[in-house]
Amino acid sequence: MKFQYKEESSDFTILLIDLKALYPFINCTNCGPRFSIIKSLPYDRKNTTMSKFLMCEECKSEYENPLDRRFHAQPNACHKCGPDVFLYKNNKTLVDKSINAIYKAVEFINKGEILALKGIGGFHLVCDATNEETVIKLREKKKRFEKPFAVMFKDLQTLESFANLTDFERVLALSPERPIVLVEKKENTKIVESVAPHIKKLGVFLPYSPLHYILLNLVDKPLVMTSANLSDEPIVKDNKEAFEKLSHFCDYILLHDRDIENRVDDSVVFSVENRMIFVRRSRGYAPLPIKLPFKLDKNVLAVGGHQKVVFAIAFDDKVFLSQHIGDLETISSQENFTDAVKKFLKLYDFKPDVVVSDLHPKYFTTQWAKDFSVEKGIRHLKVQHHYTHALSLMADNNLDKNMEILAVCWDGTGFGIDEKIWGGEFLISSYKDFKRMLHLDYYKLIGGEKAVKEPRRVALSLLFHIFGENTLNLNLPPLNSFKEEDAEILFKMWKNDINSPYTSSVGRLFDAVASLLGVCQTISYEGQSGMILERYYNKSEKGFYSFSIDKDTIDFKPVILDIINDKSDLDIKVSRFINTLAKLIIEVGKLIGLPIGLTGGVFQNKALLEKALELSEKEKIKILLHKNVPPNDGGLALGQVVYPLFNLF
Ligand code: ZN
Ligand code: FE
Repeated sequence: MKFQYKEESSDFTILLIDLKALYPFINCTNCGPRFSIIKSLPYDRKNTTMSKFLMCEECKSEYENPLDRRFHAQPNACHKCGPDVFLYKNNKTLVDKSINAIYKAVEFINKGEILALKGIGGFHLVCDATNEETVIKLREKKKRFEKPFAVMFKDLQTLESFANLTDFERVLALSPERPIVLVEKKENTKIVESVAPHIKKLGVFLPYSPLHYILLNLVDKPLVMTSANLSDEPIVKDNKEAFEKLSHFCDYILLHDRDIENRVDDSVVFSVENRMIFVRRSRGYAPLPIKLPFKLDKNVLAVGGHQKVVFAIAFDDKVFLSQHIGDLETISSQENFTDAVKKFLKLYDFKPDVVVSDLHPKYFTTQWAKDFSVEKGIRHLKVQHHYTHALSLMADNNLDKNMEILAVCWDGTGFGIDEKIWGGEFLISSYKDFKRMLHLDYYKLIGGEKAVKEPRRVALSLLFHIFGENTLNLNLPPLNSFKEEDAEILFKMWKNDINSPYTSSVGRLFDAVASLLGVCQTISYEGQSGMILERYYNKSEKGFYSFSIDKDTIDFKPVILDIINDKSDLDIKVSRFINTLAKLIIEVGKLIGLPIGLTGGVFQNKALLEKALELSEKEKIKILLHKNVPPNDGGLALGQVVYPLFNLF
């Protein structure tokens, strides 16, 4: 290798240029694409999308030489024999190719244009993160108004001038998997507010392909890099598809002629007390197997839930979790799910004996599993959503067969065995069974799905529970955000049970509190209210609000009343609310006397996790967190695969 990139200087230094230097598809035996280009196993060039490129003599000699760093590097290629890059205008006119295409793309990015860029597992939309006008243009085109964009930096040193990283976060950012790491953004940097509006976090990552390295070093500024897809559709991976679907999002398309066989999104992680927590386990990690603490007696296919879908196949003590498939709201995302499962089954030549899904009758995956079981003549098992979270956490922590834990399963929504919407659950959980010990007292979601998008509706509902019709006379942010007559209609809906299903969701409780505190009345992406609350969390505040436990329910009224009556500053109130949830976990844990496990989407809240860990240390109570799969619904499939062993007779 005669190509050197100096991490310590900010220069992109090429010491000696040989044929491979500045080649955007360079790789060695230990790096380069793998899963994204595999068509079938074993992983040989002929079974990948590199098969159409014939290695030149020089590449072949590297490939065949055991002493060469590119010995048996399946995608080995060079300028002469391998894939190339091409820059097109969004109207399909070819602008340039090879290194000149990259130079020109850089010019256009600097002028404030938006670029669609083909990477390892799909396309990104790319633009200058320091140009407010461009970032706003991208938001308007994508109709994605607030959900934060990830930002790629050319190297760690540059990254650190824009964000505060702990040592451990540095390790995560530099790890070969190159995930997006959620870190604290610095104030007053050149990264514009519209990259991640209203929150203190920033998703950051470093280049993970030679094309990224070249581009980032030439452009020399942080770039927004966001998955290129239509809303709720899978990430675009093919060149033809890019012209069809992305041309109105971008000005230019920088693509290459190495086909992507398996689309794979970027992984997302964050750190809590030097532990890595997944938000999304995908590129770099999937489909590497996870080992179970015991052996399964059946071949299991698990299909996940409905949002952030990840499916899995499992046999023996191995679980192969798929890449992130995403939310299955649209036909094309559902087709992508079906395709991805088929490819996976073929790739591993896997014949399931049983298929496991969520209990929710309306999830696409539940229906799919049912049809699949009929087609293949195999059993279909359904597992309750929150118990699945608990099982996932147990398997993730390698707990042995006879262990029992107190699983705190908090998320936005999941179908309960009483057909209500669960989401604030304390389950005593073993691999065989669970008992619902405690849950957040039921309240109504006025307007059902609509309440999920409007935290103020949830806040109103909680207020109706406490004050009844008198709520309408209160002077509080959620009320002030509604017209008087609308609030009256909502009260009638609440009172008469019109489209107002019951829920015990802690995710929605976060929404309600964000609304009550006046920081968030409606949301435009999932988890937004929690992210905004986290921004105000103040570690030095040690106070709590009151809560009470009544038989099998946790009463939320005292917390809400305390919040209303608390005249402290916003950050104090936010901190006291989050501290209260952490204290609730520990208090129930002390009562039950079992190890506590934290699972479900709510436990992506770093402030809550840190506070719970802090309190558990004081009380000397063991807390289990997720290790290899996300606490959110992306981890469900791991829970589903272990279920049949203990429940299929
Ligand atoms: Zn070559
Ligand atoms: Fe969930």
